[in-house]
Amino acid sequence: MARTHILGYPRMGAKRELKFSLEAFWKGELSAESLQTTGQTLRAGHWKKQQNAGLSFVTAGDFSFYDHVLDHSVLFGAAPGRFGLQGRPLNENDYFSLARGNAAQPAMEMTKWFDTNYHFIVPELDADTVFSLTPQDYLKQLDEALAAGFEVKPVLLGPVSYLYLGKSKNADKLDFLDALAGQYAVLLNELQRRKITWLQIDEPILALDLDESWLNAFDQAYSRFKTERPKLLLTTYFDSVARYQDRIAALPVDGIHLDLVRAPEQLETWLATLPEEWVLSAGVIDGRNIWRNDLDKSLALLAPLAEKLGERLWIAPSCSLLHTPVTLAHETLLDSDMKSWLAFADEKLEELRILAKALDHGAQSVADELAVSRAAINSRAGSGRVHSQTVKARLAALDQINENRAAVFPERQAHHHARLNLPLLPTSTIGSFPQTAEIRASRAAFKKGDISPEQYDADMKQHIQYAIRQQEQLGLDVLVHGEAERNDMVEYFGEQLAGYVFTQNGWVQSYGSRCVKPPVIYGDVYRPSPMTVDIIRYAQSLTGKPVKGMLTGPVTMLQWSFVRDDQPRETTALQLALAIRDEVDDLQKAGIAVIQIDEPAFREGLPLQRANWAHYLAWAVRAFKLASSIAGNSTQIHTHMCYSEFNDILQAIAKMDADVITIETSRSRMELLDGFGKFSYPNEIGPGIYDIHSPRIPSVAEMEQLMRRAMAVIPVERLWINPDCGLKTRGWPETRAALQNMVDTARNLRSIASSEKIKNHIYSA
Ligand code: GLN
Ligand code: ZN
Repeated sequence: MARTHILGYPRMGAKRELKFSLEAFWKGELSAESLQTTGQTLRAGHWKKQQNAGLSFVTAGDFSFYDHVLDHSVLFGAAPGRFGLQGRPLNENDYFSLARGNAAQPAMEMTKWFDTNYHFIVPELDADTVFSLTPQDYLKQLDEALAAGFEVKPVLLGPVSYLYLGKSKNADKLDFLDALAGQYAVLLNELQRRKITWLQIDEPILALDLDESWLNAFDQAYSRFKTERPKLLLTTYFDSVARYQDRIAALPVDGIHLDLVRAPEQLETWLATLPEEWVLSAGVIDGRNIWRNDLDKSLALLAPLAEKLGERLWIAPSCSLLHTPVTLAHETLLDSDMKSWLAFADEKLEELRILAKALDHGAQSVADELAVSRAAINSRAGSGRVHSQTVKARLAALDQINENRAAVFPERQAHHHARLNLPLLPTSTIGSFPQTAEIRASRAAFKKGDISPEQYDADMKQHIQYAIRQQEQLGLDVLVHGEAERNDMVEYFGEQLAGYVFTQNGWVQSYGSRCVKPPVIYGDVYRPSPMTVDIIRYAQSLTGKPVKGMLTGPVTMLQWSFVRDDQPRETTALQLALAIRDEVDDLQKAGIAVIQIDEPAFREGLPLQRANWAHYLAWAVRAFKLASSIAGNSTQIHTHMCYSEFNDILQAIAKMDADVITIETSRSRMELLDGFGKFSYPNEIGPGIYDIHSPRIPSVAEMEQLMRRAMAVIPVERLWINPDCGLKTRGWPETRAALQNMVDTARNLRSIASSEKIKNHIYSA
């Protein structure tokens, strides 16, 4: 009998119940008790679904009111000392103050969970951190599930991953290991008392490049778990863990979960060496994507495993279903074909049920289900909606396109100077201006059909005109249209490209109560007609200053969508690149001199293991170049990146050969620029000097100081002055004030530069 389980279930609820309860609680409109009830109801529902699908276990401990890593900080009594919460159990307000900050303390730091778009709260450790188990909330959830009579498999994030993901101010993180592992051991013992048979212990960092000290940390921590405890299923995901196979196999655990969607090749290694008593949990259903599983293919993989391992084979999705939407049940606008190709969390539970039944009772026992699945797989594979011969032919002929710009950068730069006639240290912004209540109201009315497309269009033009006037008054040099017409930088383009489809409820948690609804790339991508040309041409008609064309780059389009799994990601990226290339060409033909291709997610797509970086960077750079190389020498290509670590990919960024890169730097106080300076980045750079995440208005003195640091490492002739990122979340008053200071900063620095004081004054700053 194959056992079935999941690593975790999405927390938000099919109708985002948790989001709405959380936000009501934060506003003071919902009591703590009602919020707890929402949590309880959701959990009970999730377990019921797992039971209905016949899973061998229901998974508990995966729910969180904000984030599971934060919950572990609380569980082990490691709330940062600065919040003053030591020595008492936390109530709801205490808990959320850690995640969201309060009047006295800024929130704990948040960062991306591996290569997903989920953000976790970074454990904040310092020399004073003392771990002390505070298991009430965690055990309460398990007890709920136990009381309802389920076979419960709780989940914990393992101690080594917890520490690895944390940040320590003044102590070596590994110095905490013994103390923390000791507290885990106490908890394991408590689970044993509750007659829990299996615990899922997640150690996702095993998919990363680990040095010897972290590998040793596993031996050290897990050697503490030899006491009375449930059996341990060590869970890994997001990449192969085959290279640490001998180290992992020596750990005192009772089984391993492998991500066989991301890294199917590791199965062979593991089958050859799996310790005799261990179970193998085969993650064969994609927990990161929304495509229906090819059940025949999965069965072909699983049948020999079942033969070999018998009871020791478990079947599961590749990773927690946290990264997929809840259910297709409420998707009323997808046609039946499209719907049949997809599987959200609930449909994945059903796939597990079918797979297990087929293994246990033979394929005939689920003949109907398999037939339905097969029909859907075949319909998708052969669909004319998925495959465009024109796109494929164009892709096959890529080698006939010159992926380089016609001239080298210094030559292009001369053209730009002649055409644009910009001052030293030109000022610009990243693209979006405040998405005001009026803009949102107009869009909502348009979507509901309350106003006509013509009215909507006229409204948007008015907002664009307003943005242009503001920028002219402020004295900015290169203007933007403000992106009023864009709800989202990916959705806006996805809606106009062939190969994209949108769901109504395909929400995935991003952080806390925030969810994103990634569009779905299901087919060959192309651009049926120009997407932004009319609007940019309109904006340009309003001013004598250059207005930037504003596009989203191929890698970001890919990274923030659910991507088709029937061809390599790079193929889809190149298709997107060609579509954007067409748009770049049309924009320049319409007389637009400056075109920005945003790639904020460029770094995010980087593989978890360094050995795979070169391949990714090669195609990601190629996609950008393909999109931009159609630009003539006098067209200035910008790109924009933000909120990532760029120093280790500077070479690749330089290879993109954008004429100008604007990049977020103000939060790190220009540290990033050291990298650009040392590496001597060859083209122009606009380091962000205004942190757009805060309503705070940076002063001229402050911005000047930041720019001086930039000028110390990058020649002034190659610098631009701009904010960190788009201004869509800001209000107009603070935006205006901050941009005024930014323009004044530029003027001050220009006069210093021109009065020849530049060397002594600036380079010594
Ligand atoms: N052009 C986009 C904007 O200004 C860029 C957003 C981003 O970098 N995420 O909003
Ligand atoms: Zn940005």
